[in-house]
Amino acid sequence: MSQIVDKFDMDELLNCMHCGFCLPTCPTYQQTGLETYSPRGRIALMKGVAEQKLPVDEEFEHNMYACLGCRACETACPAGVKYGHLIETAREVVEETKKARRSQSFTRKLVFKQLFNHPKRIQAVGTALWALQVSGLQKLAKETGLMRILPREMAEMQEAVDLVASPATRSQRQAVVKPQGQQQVAFQTTIASAHLSRNARRDTPNELNAKPMRIGLFTGCIMDVMFYETNQAMAKLLSKAGCEVVFVQDQVCCGALHAHSGEKSDAIELAKRNIAALEQANVDVMVNNAGGCGAALKEYDHWLKDDPDWAERARVFVSKMRDVNELLAELPPLEFTQPVHARVTYQDSCHLAHGQGIRKQPRDLIRSIPGVEFVELPFADSCCGSAGIYNITNFDMSMRILDDKMEHVRGTKTHIVVTANPGCLLQMKKGIHRAGLEGQMEAVHIVDLLNRAL
Ligand code: SF4
Ligand code: SF4
Repeated sequence: MSQIVDKFDMDELLNCMHCGFCLPTCPTYQQTGLETYSPRGRIALMKGVAEQKLPVDEEFEHNMYACLGCRACETACPAGVKYGHLIETAREVVEETKKARRSQSFTRKLVFKQLFNHPKRIQAVGTALWALQVSGLQKLAKETGLMRILPREMAEMQEAVDLVASPATRSQRQAVVKPQGQQQVAFQTTIASAHLSRNARRDTPNELNAKPMRIGLFTGCIMDVMFYETNQAMAKLLSKAGCEVVFVQDQVCCGALHAHSGEKSDAIELAKRNIAALEQANVDVMVNNAGGCGAALKEYDHWLKDDPDWAERARVFVSKMRDVNELLAELPPLEFTQPVHARVTYQDSCHLAHGQGIRKQPRDLIRSIPGVEFVELPFADSCCGSAGIYNITNFDMSMRILDDKMEHVRGTKTHIVVTANPGCLLQMKKGIHRAGLEGQMEAVHIVDLLNRAL
C-alpha cells in the first residue's frame, strides 16, 4: 500500500498554503459549502493519505470523484498548485488500490480496456447509434415512453445527441485536403517562421517557405463519432487558411478519460501510440478542436518525463500541438462571405481556459464574424457540469451546476451559445432542452459557427 501512496508528489501537496482563494471558484464547493467538496479540502485529504494517516477507502474515493477536474482552482491559486496533476494522482491511487484488492467493476474494465483503447470499436458504436437513429427505433422509443427504461442520465444524454454521420459518409473522407484560396502565400511567409521552433520543422527554412504548412488533424475518438461534420469543417477552415490538412492515420483516443479516471498506465500507452502516429504523418503542426483532449495532449511531456525513450519525442509532440482557436488566431484572418446575424455568447471549455490558457482567441474569432453581436456570458469560465463522464457518474451534481449555468445563458438573451469541446457542446444542448429554450437558441461548436460564415 505504501508504494501506491508514494505516487503522490509531496512537494506539490505542501505547496498548498490553505489560503482558500480557490474556494469561491470551485463549482462543487459553491453547490455544497462543504470543505471536503473544495480544492483545499481535497488536497488536505490527499496529504492525509500520502502520509498514511488516512485510508484509501470509499469515502476518499467519493471525495476524489466528486471533483469535476475543471481546474478553475488552478487559475485562482496564488501558490501555483498544480491541482490537475494532484487529482489525477489521487484517482490513480484509488484505482491502483482497488486493483490490488481486486474490487474494480467489470463495466469499468470493459469501457477502459475494451472500448476506448480500440478506435474501430468506437467507430462500430457510432455505426450502431446511426442505425438506431435512422431506423426510427430511437424515435419510436421516445414516443412510446420506452426510453424510460434507460437510466435517467442516459435518457437525458440521448436527447442531446444529433444524427451521427453514416458509415457511407465516413468512408468518403479524403486523407489529405489541399490548400485553397489566396491566403497561402501570406501564410507561408509569416506564420511558419513565427510560430515553429526550427527543431520541430520537417524541412529546411527555404524548403518550408516553398510549401504550405502541413497540418495534422487530431480527430478525437468520441468527437469523430458524435461530431464528424465538425472535424470535416475544421479541415475546410484550415485549407481555406492556406494549409494542407492531413487526417493522421493510426491515431487513438488522447487518453484524457483514462488519466482523469485513474487509469494512468493506459493513458500513457495511448500517448505513445499518438506520438508515433504524428511522427509517421510528418506534419509541421498538429491541431485538435476539443479543449479536454487538447489539455491532455499537451500533458504528454509531463506523463513521459521519466521515460528516457519517450521524453524527447513527447516534448516535440507537445511543441507541435495546437488547439484550433489558437492556430486560427496565428493564421491570417479567414475571409468570411456569409454574415451570421445573431446574438452569440461563449461558454469556455474548462480545459481550454484553465488547462491551456486559451480564452481570448475564441472570443476574437466569434467577434470577427460579420453580423455577429457578441455577448459575454457571466461566469463563462465556470464549469458547465459536463467534465468528461461526470454528467453520467455524478448526474445530480452535474445537473445542479448545469441548471445554474443555464440561468446565466438565458440572461444573455442570445440565439447561439458557442463552445469548443464536444462534452461541453452536448451538455449545452442538454441544458437548452432542460431550460425549455429549444427553438429559441442553439448550441454550436466554434468550428461550425466559423464554417457557416465562409
Ligand atoms: S488557492 Fe491554492 S494555496 Fe490556496 S487553498 Fe487553494 S490550492 Fe491551496
Ligand atoms: S477541479 Fe474544479 S471541482 Fe475540482 S476542486 Fe478544482 S475547482 Fe473544484
